[in-house]
Amino acid sequence: MPLRRLFLWILLGSVAFVVSYFVLFPHVFRCLSIRYSDFRLAAEHLYVSPELSPRVQTHANKLIHESRKRIETFWGSRVGKPTIILCQRADQYRQYCNSGDGAGCSIGTPWGTSYIVLNMDGLNTDVIAHEMCHDELFTRLGWWKTTREIPQWFNEGLALMVDYRFVPKTDSIQRYVDYKDEYLYLSRGGQVALDLDDIASMRGFFNGQESHVMLAYMTSGMEVSRWLALTGEKKIPLLIQHVAQGKAFEAVYQELEQENKRR
Ligand SMILES: [Zn+2]
Repeated sequence: MPLRRLFLWILLGSVAFVVSYFVLFPHVFRCLSIRYSDFRLAAEHLYVSPELSPRVQTHANKLIHESRKRIETFWGSRVGKPTIILCQRADQYRQYCNSGDGAGCSIGTPWGTSYIVLNMDGLNTDVIAHEMCHDELFTRLGWWKTTREIPQWFNEGLALMVDYRFVPKTDSIQRYVDYKDEYLYLSRGGQVALDLDDIASMRGFFNGQESHVMLAYMTSGMEVSRWLALTGEKKIPLLIQHVAQGKAFEAVYQELEQENKRR
């Protein structure tokens, strides 16, 4: 095949890929083109709904600042720099998040840019830090490894560690005890327990009734807080670094836990 024709095929293939990606995920395209929408750039990496009042905007800035601090403390540093899109109305949130569920969502693209979409219920440090934690993991690992290697229970469990809606901020042992209590309550003493393998995929985690999703969250919170009580928070960046270098998540997760037990 002549070189020019090969080049043309590669070009057409790439264009087809990009077009079909945006057809499948139109909300990603909306996030990507936020600067051309009627949303206002309120601060660096922050776009707000045009009807948002200056008072709420100032409040949002303060909460984002506090959430970043939480991420820095938990991870040791902050690498993620997502663009935050703050929606005043439910229809705006649905447009950018591709779902009306929840108070916030984080979106990472295969080329590395990332977004956090919030509605008015998400205007608090717990929700923002939760989404930032997903984003931090995504930024450190990239789209492919986060999607392929990280079980959803770990991703959600980790985000719960900076989100104090279910279990308040406390020391690592008490945090595990509190998540276990929540889990035992929701699982009726373990009678309707979920296996970690069952909630390793997005589908397994989120498909089901609200009671299933809540139990999935508490199971994840219990597992990650158990692991952290044994290993310590400093092991989180190390775990992710190993996975970024190509090691299997499950293997490093167990290795770091065993290492601590031996000490
Ligand atoms: Zn989450």
